[in-house]
Amino acid sequence: MMLRIGMLGGMSWESTAEYYRLVNELVRDRLGGLHSADCLVRSVDFAPIEEKQVSGRWEEAGAALAAAAVELERGGAELLVLCTNTMHKVAPAIEQAISIPFINLLDATASAVKKTGTTTVGLLGTAFTMEQDFYRDGLSAHGLQVLVPDQEDRALIHRVIYDELCVGTVSDDSRKEYQRIIADLASRGAEGVILGCTEIELLISQEDANVPLFPTTAIHAEAAVDAALSGTIIR
Ligand code: GLU
Repeated sequence: MMLRIGMLGGMSWESTAEYYRLVNELVRDRLGGLHSADCLVRSVDFAPIEEKQVSGRWEEAGAALAAAAVELERGGAELLVLCTNTMHKVAPAIEQAISIPFINLLDATASAVKKTGTTTVGLLGTAFTMEQDFYRDGLSAHGLQVLVPDQEDRALIHRVIYDELCVGTVSDDSRKEYQRIIADLASRGAEGVILGCTEIELLISQEDANVPLFPTTAIHAEAAVDAALSGTIIR
């Protein structure tokens, strides 16, 4: 039996569209024929969420997302996927509000990294993800060492996410900058690099890098499909 995947997205919708495509492709690949994912997408307006991020009103953002998660559960979702790295900062508020399993992106990513034997990993994401404790702690809890770019490069990565990727702009110049930053992390000892923002996969793929990449949208979508098809949750 296939469980119904609830996707809490819109942050941004550019990457939620990727989740939607990926879960459907994965189910088709695994089950064949005309099989596709049984899923619900609850996509929020990102602007008010981003305002809360910038002004540090995380509790309000958590309450808004918890309410949307409850709507997904009431609508029939049997497991929940929060389609953004950054908003995993408020994952506890969401998890508390629902009774269906929450497929945590950080746990799925850490598990994918560890499977390759990697222990020191670079991290690209929003400034919130790269600079605040929640993400690094989430990975350290799995025994991983995390390296982030310097301040100037963190600002560049953050700007490209919000000003370009979240509004559908994919630029060759920005790709080159990301490639430079990935190479720099590798030279500092990163054995692999986590693309810890769900939009980065729209810009960067494995062939752009000289170290293994861990694309969180693909990893998380796969964890959701694994859980939907097996009833097994990665923790
Ligand atoms: N989608 C991004 C992430 O994975 C950034 C947008 C957001 O802040 O949610 O972190």
